[in-house]
Amino acid sequence: MSKNKRVLSGMQPSGKPHLGNYLGAMKPHIELQENHECFYFLANYHALTTVRDKDKLAEMTTGLALDYLALGLDPEKTAFFRQSDIPEVTELTWIISTVTPFGLLERAHAWKDSIAKGTKNPTVGLFSYPVLMAADILIYDSELVPVGRDQKQHIEIARDIATTFNHTYGETFIVPEDLIKKEVETILGTDGIHKMSKSYSNTVEIFAPEEDLRKQVMSMVTDPARVRRDDPGNPDVCNVFTLHKIFNSEKNIAEINKNCRNASLGCVDCKKQILESIMEELKAARKKRIELENNLDYIEEVLRRGATRAREVATKTLDRVRNSVGL
Ligand code: SF4
Repeated sequence: MSKNKRVLSGMQPSGKPHLGNYLGAMKPHIELQENHECFYFLANYHALTTVRDKDKLAEMTTGLALDYLALGLDPEKTAFFRQSDIPEVTELTWIISTVTPFGLLERAHAWKDSIAKGTKNPTVGLFSYPVLMAADILIYDSELVPVGRDQKQHIEIARDIATTFNHTYGETFIVPEDLIKKEVETILGTDGIHKMSKSYSNTVEIFAPEEDLRKQVMSMVTDPARVRRDDPGNPDVCNVFTLHKIFNSEKNIAEINKNCRNASLGCVDCKKQILESIMEELKAARKKRIELENNLDYIEEVLRRGATRAREVATKTLDRVRNSVGL
């Protein structure tokens, strides 16, 4: 484990977080603060490529800050800030865009996917999104960037840009490395088919009111071959069981596995049990989020302090860059 290396991550405000977000990104990000110097920002510049409503953007950005703080992000350990509070990053975006080959961005998976999906009138912002991402990484002298295996390309682009820049103008940037996140089980949505995602409307929202959360969990599709209550089930093909494996003890998992297969446990009861485990896991965070919602001045203060800390690093890097290129 690389102790005290600087870790950078940006989270794009996109609405209500769900179990997939929590297990795949939020929880592991927050755990990193124990052994690393973390710089985490709310990526509201990036969100502008999709959100065109100023009130919604502001609300979602604050909402994401509340989510992370409620889940345990410690602003004393982690520099936590809004991307747009460090405008230096946009100047750096321009400067590094002048050494970024057009073809590099054309090969970006996210760009290719959005064109393949038929995005109407794609914008320059969408195309140059990875340059802003690279600027975010480089401006904070980041050493590690946590990503899933499927997002490795983001870091490769930032590394390519940093290396080209250093080669052209002399050593200026730290070339970042990826920190591949521990593989977690893919969390399927309530439909039991697709990965949990807002775009499939199959989410279990971690901060939803209790009754809504209950309905979402109880609507989960289980083993499709188990039609009647006394049919034996197969936990290996059941998404509810995947969640039990994450949230439950070894002993309970073995019990559920056995009782599903011999049909002594019904799906309704099995879902009630997982609901209880999820609620237990999230109990403290859900309570804290409500408290924080009533203390938005504190949120502003946290983000302001985080921005001051981040800006100190950003201005130094930008000075170095300006000096390197002759501005
Ligand atoms: S009993 Fe539980 S693990 Fe078995 S099929 Fe039903 S929900 Fe899935």
